[in-house]
Amino acid sequence: MDFKGSHILSIEQFERADIERIFEVADRMEPYALRKRITRVLDGAILGNMFFEPSTRTRVSFGSAFNLLGGAVRETTGFESSAIAKGESLYDTARVLSGYSDVICMRHPQAGSVAEFAAASRVPVMNGGDGPNEHPTQALLDLYTIRKEVASKGRSMDELRIAMIGDLKYGRTVHSLCKLLKVYNNVTVTLISPRELQMPEELVEGLREVGHQVVVTDQLEGSINSDIVYSTRIQEERFGSKEEADLYRGKFRLNQQIYTKYCEPNTVIMHPLPRDSRAEANELDNDLNENPNLAIFRQADNGVLVRMALFALVLDVVDGVDKYSSDVNWYRPE
Ligand code: ASP
Repeated sequence: MDFKGSHILSIEQFERADIERIFEVADRMEPYALRKRITRVLDGAILGNMFFEPSTRTRVSFGSAFNLLGGAVRETTGFESSAIAKGESLYDTARVLSGYSDVICMRHPQAGSVAEFAAASRVPVMNGGDGPNEHPTQALLDLYTIRKEVASKGRSMDELRIAMIGDLKYGRTVHSLCKLLKVYNNVTVTLISPRELQMPEELVEGLREVGHQVVVTDQLEGSINSDIVYSTRIQEERFGSKEEADLYRGKFRLNQQIYTKYCEPNTVIMHPLPRDSRAEANELDNDLNENPNLAIFRQADNGVLVRMALFALVLDVVDGVDKYSSDVNWYRPE
């Protein structure tokens, strides 16, 4: 695809070569993300960061990625602080805000809303999560992490075995990840969830259509001996009430004892975060924190690299990143 000026709305828009291109650019961003070099390539550019649902990592890492490329960030968070609360349409908001920004990142509770906004925007729009639908930049950083983690263990992406656990019905990160895994060969995907929260059928079919093995189960024990286990949070905000979400919370807990018993010694543990650490949920126990295969914080760090790569590609400055770079002046711990 031609990245220049493109919206990033769905995983469906990428082919394998596009993904390789994003990851190759992401690798080149490492000295900047690690503050070994600074670049001013986006000096003067403005990111409009519009988050109408809670977010820590996605919002801050989009903003940090843009700052690290030398650009400035304007934020709108929550409907109550935006004119949408006065009845303004997505169309009008997009027409107006795209006049103030060079690129916009948006999160919104309704499926399809970011695409609707993008259709009226005069600048590229990136989907930071549209309700239960998709979270394409998360899936890209997840895949980037999976590739790095399996490579460090001498394994390849084709023949990958991955177990996804938790709320697979409403979890947009696993929806996008299932779409993304279709570019590889012979992947085995084990989908572990309560029956009521199973992965949507069309996504399961999509995996099967490309020849992947899919196992659907409600049992954690015996199903997590994979290269990757990808745990997810019960998406409480998509349920009718907290009480309804409580029915499923805490059903699938991973701790060191279960890991030792059921996982392979090198199984990599991932989670898009936030992990729900309340006692009634505790989906990834703190006793895994010292497990070297717990990749959740490396995964979060990778979000900056992948988002820098997407900005550099969409704003067409990949070659300028090094050109406009210089040494760092301040002290940084190693
Ligand atoms: N942060 C991810 C998302 O926004 C995962 C989660 O919230 O559970 O979809």
